Amino acid sequence: MQNVTIPDHPLLRHKLTLLRDRYTPTGMFRQVAREISLLMAYEVMRDLPLETIAIETPLEPMRAEHLAGKKLCLVSILRAGNGILEGMLDLVPSARVGHIGLYRDPATLQPVEYYLKLPSDIAERLVILVDPMLATGNSATAAASRLKQAGVKLMKFVCLLAAPEGIAVFTEAHPDVPVFTAAIDRELDSHGYIRPGLGDAGDRFYGTR
Ligand code: URA
Repeated sequence: MQNVTIPDHPLLRHKLTLLRDRYTPTGMFRQVAREISLLMAYEVMRDLPLETIAIETPLEPMRAEHLAGKKLCLVSILRAGNGILEGMLDLVPSARVGHIGLYRDPATLQPVEYYLKLPSDIAERLVILVDPMLATGNSATAAASRLKQAGVKLMKFVCLLAAPEGIAVFTEAHPDVPVFTAAIDRELDSHGYIRPGLGDAGDRFYGTR
C-alpha cells in the first residue's frame, strides 16, 4: 500500500495483542499504548536529518551527530490522541504539542471541530499528527486539512490501528502525508468501529463507559 508503513517488530506485535485483548485493564492498556507509541515514534522519526556539531567528551573534542533541520510538533486529535502523545514525548521531550478537538457526529460519522490550539510557528515545523484509530478516516483527513490551512507543509500521520477504508479515504485526500500504523485490520463495521480492532480507544484509555 502506497505511503503506508507498518513497522515489523515482535515487541510491537506482542504489545498490540495486549491492547486488543478485552481483558487488559485500563492501567495496563495505557502503559502498553505508551510503549507502542514510543516504538512508533522511533519508526516515524527514522529519516530525520542529522548534522555534526563540535562537542567535548570528558576525554577529547569530537564532532558528533545531532538532529538537524525542522523542529518537531506533535498534534493530538482529542481525546484518544493524547494516549499516544505521552509515549512519543518520552522519546522527543522538547517537541511542541498541538491539539485538535474533533468529535464524530454519530449520525453522519463526519468530524465536527470544537477545539484547536497550535504552536504559533507550526508552519515551520515537521508535524506528526496522532490518533490511535484510523477508522472512517474522516477525522484524520479533516485534521490534516486544518493543519495545512495553518501553513503546515511537512506532516506524517501515526495511528495504532487502521481500517482499509480509513487508509483509502486519508491517502486519497492527503497523498503527501505518509501514514504509519501498527496494523491494518479487516474492515470498518456499520457503527464505524474497526474490526477486529480494540474497541473504543478513548474509553479504553480513560476507563469511561
Ligand atoms: N474509534 C475507536 O476508538 N475505535 C474504533 O474501532 C473506531 C474508531
